[in-house]
Amino acid sequence: MIFETLDTFGHEQVVFCHNKDAGLKAIIAIHNTVLGPALGGTRMWPYASEAEALNDVLRLSRGMTFKNAVAGLNIGGGKAVIIGDPAKDKSEALFRAFGQFVDSLGGRYITAEDVGIDVNDMEYVYRETQYVTGVHQIHGGSGDPSPFTAYGALQGLMATLNKKFGNEDVGKYSYAVQGLGHVGMEYVKLLKERGAKIFVTDINKALVDKAVSEYGAEAVGLDEIYDVAADVYSPCALGGTVNEKTLPRFKFKVICGAANNQLSTDAIGDEVVKRGILYAPDYAVNAGGVMNVALELDGYNRERAMRMMRTIYHNLSRIYEISDRDGIPTYRAADRLAEERISVIGKLKLPMGRSQPRFQGRIRGQ
Ligand code: NAD
Repeated sequence: MIFETLDTFGHEQVVFCHNKDAGLKAIIAIHNTVLGPALGGTRMWPYASEAEALNDVLRLSRGMTFKNAVAGLNIGGGKAVIIGDPAKDKSEALFRAFGQFVDSLGGRYITAEDVGIDVNDMEYVYRETQYVTGVHQIHGGSGDPSPFTAYGALQGLMATLNKKFGNEDVGKYSYAVQGLGHVGMEYVKLLKERGAKIFVTDINKALVDKAVSEYGAEAVGLDEIYDVAADVYSPCALGGTVNEKTLPRFKFKVICGAANNQLSTDAIGDEVVKRGILYAPDYAVNAGGVMNVALELDGYNRERAMRMMRTIYHNLSRIYEISDRDGIPTYRAADRLAEERISVIGKLKLPMGRSQPRFQGRIRGQ
């Protein structure tokens, strides 16, 4: 049953990690290491069943393969889940035991933070293994990725405007921004600097007030955001907000934002095309976060990170070319770009039969 699933999704390796004394039950899924070591965060969640945890880690690790490949990184896809309640079940022993399992993979899997895990938890993981990113800046970590994610999303937006309207003048268009958290507020700031008209919403009123007073945005209600007569819808909060209930209300011409999993289903992705709306695939637009942590592997450098964010423009342009070339929706074209890159790069043979280089571990204390 499990091997059948692995066959279907194409996973290389799945590791079940158990340490009774530390109370650890975790699963590490390595989906694909053709481009390089598998990188993806660890999620801690009180899964209702082990099957649910397995399903989640298989799905998420596969998603990381596509995201990392489209981002142009020499990094494969992986993910880990720890079964437990982040509010109750965290301990030093649990994270150190988990770190030992990550270490045992010798660099095939590199971890980072995800839902339920913070930089303090990663400190414990880091005591047991070097194969970890998203550690504190004093260890050479990259810190909060959100400003990079927002700047990367702006690059994706410019490529998308260019495709839709034939110019990339951000200030000429109007935006409905949902979510003013770490990424959303920074994104609003970047839009404002370019003279754009901005509508905003958030469940947190203080953040809405800030966007209104500092960036001249116009506040709209939580549900009203879907009816705004703006050119671009920028989801920067939750996933699944482009769905059968919201889409019929859209007057937007473009969907481009930083949230993960914006389309509720593939069928909705097809419907978006029918309505003449250009969708900028979310995982290509929000790749700034993963680019930022991936740079930690070489020794982190902010200049380089900013330069790398600009490549998101070209990644989106390439996706639109593939969409036109193959007559497929953009969300499918993003997957195809990933598959093509993995296939082409996978065929490159290194001289003298050397195998794929493996991450040798972070330089301690860097
Ligand atoms: P965040 O938690 O800082 O911000 C999310 C904001 O959305 C919060 O202010 C919250 O109040 C608001 N919100 C929640 N539900 C809402 C609703 N129904 N309507 C309006 N607002 C609502 O998160 P973030 O780090 O800014 O990330 C935003 C999105 O971008 C997430 O989907 C995340 O997965 C994705 N993302 C973030 C990064 C990053 O670097 N932080 C990288 C890649 C993807």
